[in-house]
Amino acid sequence: MTTPTGDKDAAKPSNFLRQIIERDLEQGIYSQRHWAGIPGDAATQQSGPLDPARIRTRFPPEPNGYLHVGHAKSICLNFGLANEYGGVCHMRFDDTNPEKEEMEYVEGIKDAVRWLGFSWDAHGTSHLYQASDYFDFMYRAAEYLVEAGLAYVDEQTPEQMRANRGDFSRPGTDSPFRSRSIDENRNRFREMRDGKLADGAAVLRAKIDMASPNINMRDPALYRIKHAEHHNTGNTWCIYPMYTFAHPIEDALENITHSLCTLEFEDQRPFYDWLLDRLAEGGLVNKPHPRQYEFARLNLTYVVTSKRKLKQLVDEKHVSGWDDPRLPTIVGLRRRGYTPESLQLFAERIGVTKADSWIDYSTLEIALRDDLDPKAARAMAVLDPVKLVIENWGELMGGDDQLDPCSAPVHPHDESRGRRSFMFGKELWIERTDYEETPPKGFFRLFPGNKVRLKYGHVIECVGADRDAQGTVVQVRARLVPDTKSGTPGADKVKVKGTITWVGVADGLKAEVRLYDRLFAVAQPDTGEKDFLEELNPDSLKVVTAYVEPSLGSSQGDEKFQFERHGYFVADRKDHDSTAGKVVFNRVTGLKDSWGK
Ligand code: ATP
Ligand code: MG
Repeated sequence: MTTPTGDKDAAKPSNFLRQIIERDLEQGIYSQRHWAGIPGDAATQQSGPLDPARIRTRFPPEPNGYLHVGHAKSICLNFGLANEYGGVCHMRFDDTNPEKEEMEYVEGIKDAVRWLGFSWDAHGTSHLYQASDYFDFMYRAAEYLVEAGLAYVDEQTPEQMRANRGDFSRPGTDSPFRSRSIDENRNRFREMRDGKLADGAAVLRAKIDMASPNINMRDPALYRIKHAEHHNTGNTWCIYPMYTFAHPIEDALENITHSLCTLEFEDQRPFYDWLLDRLAEGGLVNKPHPRQYEFARLNLTYVVTSKRKLKQLVDEKHVSGWDDPRLPTIVGLRRRGYTPESLQLFAERIGVTKADSWIDYSTLEIALRDDLDPKAARAMAVLDPVKLVIENWGELMGGDDQLDPCSAPVHPHDESRGRRSFMFGKELWIERTDYEETPPKGFFRLFPGNKVRLKYGHVIECVGADRDAQGTVVQVRARLVPDTKSGTPGADKVKVKGTITWVGVADGLKAEVRLYDRLFAVAQPDTGEKDFLEELNPDSLKVVTAYVEPSLGSSQGDEKFQFERHGYFVADRKDHDSTAGKVVFNRVTGLKDSWGK
């Protein structure tokens, strides 16, 4: 779990996928392929000009939930590689399963990809596709296999089929239906299509090899019966293609060159090639056909990345919705304050490998800090406020209600961004933890008799504090040391060991600040004996009433700030309404990794 750091603009390191693509481009493997401008079979593609895209990749989500950080890795990879090599990445909804697909998710997925900074528009075409549009072709491909003696209708029960499949040590046993004639298979398959058979009564299977050491090659199922309405095709079909049959065909019809998927599909690759080789031989799909390459999926500590589990967290109200800032969904990360650039940087840094591993959550936070540090405007905020009263203010300033304007750079390394202003006065908000009656060793902030600088303001000397009946400090008292205002000549003649942040009582804004922490209390919540819900971090959200400097009053949603000493914060996109005086900030992340310390 090492965390690569360093210059984010450094040349992108090579990886096995870049090497494969560069080799294919060098050898011109795909350079003679034609593209009709739309997905289609071999004849359609041949009627078009040479494909203007040097490579084609695709991002093929199933629209059954919101996307998460694992999908972000896949999006950055597929769209990123296409951009890098003069290619095009297709946005494809894998909607071949008639159940569980919702328009809300389709729109959410498109928003997420666009927000991450990618587009499926290229060469004047929108490469936005849905797999269910290919059902006609898939059926034709299935009938082709039947006619070629390469597929048969199997009417064994699911139990028999499972038993006859064998296992790793035992070859499978041929189904009694395997030797049916082509005519019989054609008729029976058409009866399946025409709704003459009940769900589960038969499947169409490829006829490959029941003794193959790869169980996926033991006559995999191609079509199943499912009397269900489909959101796109309605009741046109009562048979639906299996994912393993549909996916290679979707890739082929779209002229995909490099079909990138996660490692669990490695054992499917022989069937992917078998199917497309057969369909290419039959002149059905364009040549050379796409190739599948597998990479390790992203496993991130302290979160779960499975749409099903995320949905459970949302449905059972453990979080406030799909965009809860603690969730690793893209809408959640966005509301938390993550930027598209930080997620792209994260994806680039974790790279692609052929071996599964866990990435520590802090790697994501480090990428975020590296992206925000040069961008985020600075501001002062007091998250656990207690009042500081300057006893000699009126004397020195000619009145208790006098205010002294102070300023600070918007960004310490970029003068051109100007300065922010705020008022120093008799009463200021400071952090409760900045005062100690009896200072522990190494404590340089406020305690009776000690001097500190109020950042961008004056030096003060602490006098003491007033407490209520319970002993809680209600206000801290101090005296101003004259001629020490920051930025004025001789201001640093009085040496102090501590500097603290503050917000003026006169012009500070009251704000709701949501201090988010990790959603789960353990690193790998989904892997042990316990139900993952038992491992939720009970302290993942703490809401405090804070005071923030007036420059934050005009901030718009999505704008990120560094609250000095505290970390990065973002105005909550949903709840913050500065024009209505409702100021709400989310903590994005601390200034440094403090988890477990
Ligand atoms: P989930 O299990 O969360 O539902 P999925 O793999 O079923 O995820 P799909 O919608 O089918 O989700 O995935 C779309 C694409 O995103 C696929 O190409 C898949 O390989 C990729 N993907 C999904 N999860 C991850 C992950 N954790 N890391 C990398 N890529 C992922
Ligand atoms: Mg899936």
